[in-house]
Amino acid sequence: MDFGFCLSPSSHVKMDTVDLTTFNRLKETNPDINTCIACGSCTATCTAGNFTEMSFRRILLMLQRGKEDEAKKMIQRCMLCGKCTLVCPRGINIRKILLDITR
Ligand code: SF4
Ligand code: SF4
Repeated sequence: MDFGFCLSPSSHVKMDTVDLTTFNRLKETNPDINTCIACGSCTATCTAGNFTEMSFRRILLMLQRGKEDEAKKMIQRCMLCGKCTLVCPRGINIRKILLDITR
C-alpha cells in the first residue's frame, strides 16, 4: 500500500557510502567541532549571511553528509571577518575551521 510520506530522492543520504574523509580529518585537527550545539548564533551574526546563503551550521551538516563540494562552494562566500568565532557560545574557532576545510 502507498501510505505515509518519504524523503524526496534529492534528500536521501546513504551514510554507508558517503565519503567522510574531510569531516573526520576536521574532527581530529579541530576537536572543538564536536561541541557544536547547532545554536545558530554563527549563522545569525554572519556578515556574508546577510547577503548570501552562507551558514557555518549548514556547512557542518553538509560535511557530516559527505557533501564536500557543496560545503566548499558555500565557503567561497565567507569574508573571514571572524564575527562567528566571537559569538560562538562553545568557543569554537569557526574561522580557522573554515580555512582548514579548504586546505
Ligand atoms: S555558534 Fe558555535 S555552537 Fe552555535 S551553531 Fe555555530 S558553531 Fe555551533
Ligand atoms: S568569518 Fe565567514 S562565516 Fe564567520 S561571520 Fe565572517 S563571513 Fe560569516
